[in-house]
Amino acid sequence: MDQILWLATLQSFAILGAVVAGWSCLRHVVPWPWPRLGDFVFAVAMGSGTIIVMSMPVELAPGVRFDFRTSLLAAAALIGGPMMVIAGVIAAVYRIYLGGDGALSGVVSIMIATGLGILFHVRGRGKDPSFTTIALLSVLTSVSGLFSTLLLPMQAFGKLSEWGFLMTTVMRVLATFLSAVVLRQDRISVKMAKDNLIYRKIIDALPDSLNVKDREGRFIAANPATARLMRAVSAEALSGKTDFDFYPASVAETFRHDEEAIVEARKAVTLEQTAVLPDGTERKLVTLKAPLFGNDGEFIGLITHNRDVTETEALKRDLEGARAKLQTAIDNMNDGMAMFGGDGRLIYCNDRYRQLFPLTAHLRVPGAAFKDLVSTSAAMGEALINAPEVDAWVTRVAGAATGEAVNTFQMFNGRWLQSRAAIVSDGLLLLITDITEKRQAEIETVKSAAEYQALFVHSVAGIFRSTSDGLMLRANPALVKLNGYDSEAALLEGVGDIAAEWYVDPQRREDFKRLMLRDGRVNDFVSEIYRHKSRERIWVSETAWTVPGDDGKPAYFEGTVIEITDRKRAEEEIKKTNLKLLSLAATDGLTGLMNRRSFDEALDRELVNAASTKEPLSLILIDVDHFKNYNDRYGHPQGDECLRFLGRVLRATCRSPSDIACRYGGEELAIILPATTADDALAVATRLCESVRGLNLRHEASRAGMVTISAGVATVVPAEGDPASGLVRKADEALYAAKGGGRDRVEAYASDGAGPSRNKTNRVS
Ligand code: GH3
Ligand code: MG
Ligand code: MG
Repeated sequence: MDQILWLATLQSFAILGAVVAGWSCLRHVVPWPWPRLGDFVFAVAMGSGTIIVMSMPVELAPGVRFDFRTSLLAAAALIGGPMMVIAGVIAAVYRIYLGGDGALSGVVSIMIATGLGILFHVRGRGKDPSFTTIALLSVLTSVSGLFSTLLLPMQAFGKLSEWGFLMTTVMRVLATFLSAVVLRQDRISVKMAKDNLIYRKIIDALPDSLNVKDREGRFIAANPATARLMRAVSAEALSGKTDFDFYPASVAETFRHDEEAIVEARKAVTLEQTAVLPDGTERKLVTLKAPLFGNDGEFIGLITHNRDVTETEALKRDLEGARAKLQTAIDNMNDGMAMFGGDGRLIYCNDRYRQLFPLTAHLRVPGAAFKDLVSTSAAMGEALINAPEVDAWVTRVAGAATGEAVNTFQMFNGRWLQSRAAIVSDGLLLLITDITEKRQAEIETVKSAAEYQALFVHSVAGIFRSTSDGLMLRANPALVKLNGYDSEAALLEGVGDIAAEWYVDPQRREDFKRLMLRDGRVNDFVSEIYRHKSRERIWVSETAWTVPGDDGKPAYFEGTVIEITDRKRAEEEIKKTNLKLLSLAATDGLTGLMNRRSFDEALDRELVNAASTKEPLSLILIDVDHFKNYNDRYGHPQGDECLRFLGRVLRATCRSPSDIACRYGGEELAIILPATTADDALAVATRLCESVRGLNLRHEASRAGMVTISAGVATVVPAEGDPASGLVRKADEALYAAKGGGRDRVEAYASDGAGPSRNKTNRVS
């Protein structure tokens, strides 16, 4: 009997094993699309498994069955939790369906086993149970099985020996334990698969390149970042390839050599390297290479993790560059700079700061207290700050929180320093500027301003400032007086638009403005103006310049005004006198006609004119007949009187303003007739002779009994450069002819070159 029981038990054990293993296989082979229903399916599967187990029992007595149902249910409930109630119910229903004497005991054992499993599951909060927990559950399940046997009818016991009893109990413990362990491992492997998936996703999403190579340097695994780095189509495409497929042989050889050394040393190495990528670009990489060994010490692969730090490195370099530049800037600052911490101790200062305090430079090192530095400097006579003032000074600087605290002080070497303090973050920033030159310049400015003021007030020249559109801004006492006012205020009040009110000719102001804007200044700009208050006309000379505004364009006019009315009047007088002298020099005193010098000039001028206009130029030469006799008969003064008369006749005869009458010399007179033909000139000469006769001046010593004249006329259209002497000679020849012809007549010079022509002779009487 025992042997049969033993075999039957082993058979049940095998069935249980088959159920559990079958589930595990199914779990992995058949994809389950509804993960939420996973526990339910597990419960149904375990319930079904229990039916299988129960369907092939060891029949201890009719209706009394022994199998490993409780082992399977307890193990499944431990792993699956409360949902396993379903498995328990399925098993119980099936047991009731089978019926028999052991039905009650069977259902009870099913309930106890399921309940124990669930209890252990809940207690363990669903975590993977430890082997101890599993063992405890196994024992408890088995023991509880013993209790349920108490419900069996007595004859069932008769079949079991003590040994059989013990054997089934132990086997049940073992069955529970093994089932639970297998189911637990199954659950763990499901979780691991899930975890692996997560890791895979993370690695794929990793921006860094991560890959594993085998002993021969072939890629076993690689993430997409590796593929990108290697310029490969995909991570999968890398599989089985080596660095030799991507890099030149020499480079790949080096990589391979390094990797082998790492595997040999069995130690992870981090390298910073500049890698030339397959496409030739250069990248800065931080590479971790770690050999991976299995639990048995067997080499699995070489993990390579590449982080591309090209951009980071570039940023770092830029930052370092900027920092260096800033440092250079601080070192070369014209100002001394010092930074004190919240505790008032020096953190940093530049060289210039130390240079500015030569006597305490050695003390100005990090850690030095601000207060000590000030008091030592004062005590050594370096900074000339009175000892009692030191505290106030320090307080003032430290109180810079409300803004900038500025202190100006003199140094032992005569230089003036200005310190500006400002609270920055937790500390105090101190800037020391050498203001000696600036201060000197300010003093000079004040001095020169005072000097300018004195000049402004005392200058005899008027000084003004105005806007370019005529608004008076300043006037000094001299200018106030020049305009007839008592005070500057009265003048500024009285003057509206200087352009309209000051200049006699308003155009002068426009000229002034134009010159100022064009040249930036005017010198000795002379204008007639109104003495503003009295409207008296006076002359002034202005010298002015533009004053640029902030934008560089002329903002103001400034300048001096000197009254030059007296100078101007004197100049006018001189001008008039000169004019008079000029005309005196040009006229003949006796007749009032032009004199010989003017005649010569006029004739030269008219010859040039005629040559250019190609118009005829005529000349009449006149000589008084028997004038020697006249003088002899009536005396020289009477002769002069006669010449004066003749002068008047000549002036009256020359009606055209362009005709020029002159005294050629002695009792010889001449008329230059520009743009006059020979005929017209002859007519003028004839009219002249008649006019002289018309005077009817008695001349008893002449055959005519009255004063008569003879005239010679010549006309030319001169070529350029023809001399005046030619025309004069021709007129003279004609005059000579008139004298020879009996006097009191006009003779014209023939233009055919045959000399004075008869037919042109005009006898007057
Ligand atoms: P003819 O008819 O040929 O011209 O005879 P004439 O006497 O006028 O001779 P001529 O022209 O040579 O005479 C010049 C005289 O004119 C000489 C001089 O006494 C006189 N004469 C010249 N200039 C003046 C002058 O300024 N005043 C006076 N009163 N006589 C003058
Ligand atoms: Mg004469
Ligand atoms: Mg004469």
